[in-house]
Amino acid sequence: MSKPKIFLTRPIPPASMELLERESELTFNPDDRVLTREEVIAGMAGQDGLLCTLMDPVDGELLDTNPNLKVVANYAVGYNNIDVAAATERKIPVTNTPGVLTDSTADMAWALMFAIGRRVVEGDQLVRSRKWEGWGPMQLLGQDITGATLGLIGLGRIGKAMVKRARGFDMKVLYWNRTRLSEAEEIELGVTYLSQKEVLAQSDFVSVHVALNAETTHLIGEAELAAMKPTAYLINTARGPVVDEKALVKALQQGSIGGAGLDVFEKEPELEPELYDLPNVVIPPHLGSATIGTRTKMGNMAAENCLAACRGERPPNIVNPEVLE
Ligand code: NAP
Repeated sequence: MSKPKIFLTRPIPPASMELLERESELTFNPDDRVLTREEVIAGMAGQDGLLCTLMDPVDGELLDTNPNLKVVANYAVGYNNIDVAAATERKIPVTNTPGVLTDSTADMAWALMFAIGRRVVEGDQLVRSRKWEGWGPMQLLGQDITGATLGLIGLGRIGKAMVKRARGFDMKVLYWNRTRLSEAEEIELGVTYLSQKEVLAQSDFVSVHVALNAETTHLIGEAELAAMKPTAYLINTARGPVVDEKALVKALQQGSIGGAGLDVFEKEPELEPELYDLPNVVIPPHLGSATIGTRTKMGNMAAENCLAACRGERPPNIVNPEVLE
């Protein structure tokens, strides 16, 4: 049997590249940059599979440029960059990489809670400015994390990984999720279900973990931010557009919330300009899954998904299984 032809939009970790090179006729963008739409179209022409990243928008028009495409394999768990309905209409399977990045993303949310809550970045900047005059009783006081109330908006895989971490810090965990857990699961996890507004109003740290789609766009807007305590911090490791970034800037400027730790932004790599200069934000560049181990697992998973679909098998992580019916 001839090897499937796969187009990869950007290099991924070496183990995954080796797997793809061994099992397919691989063509890839060798440069570590996002391809233009035209370049993606040219690259995927005549290919069986498209392996892309969350930076590559995939819509119906793009899919129509290659009527023989057998799969769109996303190198991410979130697949908001792909018009899944359009792919489904064209009977093209779409796949993602669930589970393997759960812990590293929850770790990043945790890192942001500490970074903003304990003012790590501000402190680092003070020391580097060479203006630090030594320990002070009132210097850069932050908020306790141990014993604080954590509010989770979204309790999927990553939300639940946050609960695990919160236990070690004696935190009270409140949650809102579209689908409420069973009573047994709530008891087992030690979490309390409340309305979104109550979670926002009662939490010291609010961490967002919903998938991005039409219903969750701007789920956290002006009214939601206004419901938060003025000392509370917002943590977003989900997707930028889940939070109304303009409303967030206003809330941060007015001090109606304490601060924010943001791994993701509405129009990456652009940010609302004020965010660059606000002292009460920590803003890493979308690093949630960015560990060598996790990215390798994601790469292998995306490669396996892509190869399986190209061979006419069911890809292990299909998000639109109805195309196989
Ligand atoms: P998951 O297990 O599928 O959880 C998705 C969550 O989103 C669930 O709580 C789900 O609620 C909720 N949701 C989906 N559609 C919704 C809607 N229309 N309205 C309200 N809630 C909705 O996914 P996960 O693995 O935890 O990942 C969550 C998200 O994190 C991903 O989608 C991705 O965008 C983001 N992420 C970011 C990074 C990063 O680098 N920063 C890394 C990994 C993931 P139900 O329980 O009701 O379905």
